[in-house]
Amino acid sequence: MSNQTKRFFLSEEEIPHYWYNIQADMKNKPMPPLNPATKQPLSPEDLFPIFAQELSRQELNQTDSWIEIPDEVRDMYKYYRSTPLVRAYGLERALGTPAHIYFKNESVSPVGSHKLNSALAQAYYCKREGITNITTETGAGQWGAALAYAAKVFGLEAAVYQVKISYEQKPYRRSIMQTFGAQVTASPSMSTRAGKDILTVHPNYQGSLGTAISEAIELAINTPNCRYTLGSVLSHVALHQTIIGLEAEKQMAMTGEYPDVIIACFGGGSNFGGIAFPFMRHTLLDGKKTRYVAAEPASCPKLTRGKFMYDFGDEAGYTPLLPMFTLGHNFAPANIHAGGLRYHGAGVIVSQLLKDGYMEATDIQQLESFEAGCLFAQAEGIIPAPESCHAIAATINEANKCKETGEEKVILFNLSGHGLIDMTSYDKFLAGDLVNYQLSDEEIARNLSEAE
Ligand SMILES: *Cc1c(COP(=O)(O)O)cnc(C)c1O
Repeated sequence: MSNQTKRFFLSEEEIPHYWYNIQADMKNKPMPPLNPATKQPLSPEDLFPIFAQELSRQELNQTDSWIEIPDEVRDMYKYYRSTPLVRAYGLERALGTPAHIYFKNESVSPVGSHKLNSALAQAYYCKREGITNITTETGAGQWGAALAYAAKVFGLEAAVYQVKISYEQKPYRRSIMQTFGAQVTASPSMSTRAGKDILTVHPNYQGSLGTAISEAIELAINTPNCRYTLGSVLSHVALHQTIIGLEAEKQMAMTGEYPDVIIACFGGGSNFGGIAFPFMRHTLLDGKKTRYVAAEPASCPKLTRGKFMYDFGDEAGYTPLLPMFTLGHNFAPANIHAGGLRYHGAGVIVSQLLKDGYMEATDIQQLESFEAGCLFAQAEGIIPAPESCHAIAATINEANKCKETGEEKVILFNLSGHGLIDMTSYDKFLAGDLVNYQLSDEEIARNLSEAE
């Protein structure tokens, strides 16, 4: 044991210089986003009123496998990257599994999650194009915190709509955003038409990412020199997150092993794509046999029980129609504590990959996720974000299968964030106040037919 390495790091020079654009290597490319009124495919120019131009081009880029990371962004990555690749000896011992478990620790970023990898890129491109204000939505507050910091780094003003249930459950994330200088509003709010419309019908609505997205887009469209930014779902966000898997690839080489299974929790797919795509490149190009498992909450099961179809990315229907696995854009998920996983759909790249059988999905109940999180905290000394607990639960399930079969599989999972600002959720779990949510097939079917 004493000569074994616990954590693997890269030097600053070894931090990747390019992001990986998996779209270029996919045989079946994601179908294009459609204008909801005309049903015509959108070009990058159509996205310019909402997103920075370079981000719009990255979104629809299906030809370049590698996109250079601007020096300004890479210099900011050095504040916390490389993040450690960790061999989870403690968790292996606690489980008594022959599996070799590794995790990529994205919780060491200044804001405590992977979200900063894309926030820095998005804020940088906005600044370079002369934009002065950016808006966004946030669930648990992880994305809002990342964007608030990135905006400050590049000298932009940030306005954040935070899902009301999270605004109330996670007050410190609001403080973090405000500390970094952002303006934070609970969503639904009375400041937008989208918010007013929903509050008129459901005065006590606790909010959802879909509603908050509608509010942020509305503000961006109505404010000069302002653009909208998004922390997940979109292809350019997954692109920026591939820094995770590209580093992990180099770090796995240092261990002398290669992952058989790669696991990440799944909200819209950015941390999953971030760790999986650079490895999946070898599956697409060389036929490498690796399993890729997305762990989603049982209360919001778009991958395991949703339908592949064109749907809106937001509740009010402001976004283009996207080809994705969805529960219907009007789906109102239960108030689980993994706020970052309460989204009705999945990114278009991941949706196509799931459809084509390149990846799998598994759903995890709320209590199972927190049990896994507590076990991990005790074994590895890191309290995981409630979202990340889903990846840990799926990892434990894989490791327990290895225990039954005696297989020494190599499992790599992404620890997308820490849970130190989510202790009210842990409190409730420890007090026995959390429940599982059962979603009936009828409920899912009814919601999907309303969305069609
Ligand atoms: C936002 C978030 C997620 C879910 O978003 P993805 O785009 O699916 O990665 C997962 N974990 C943490 C810690 C988050 O903040």
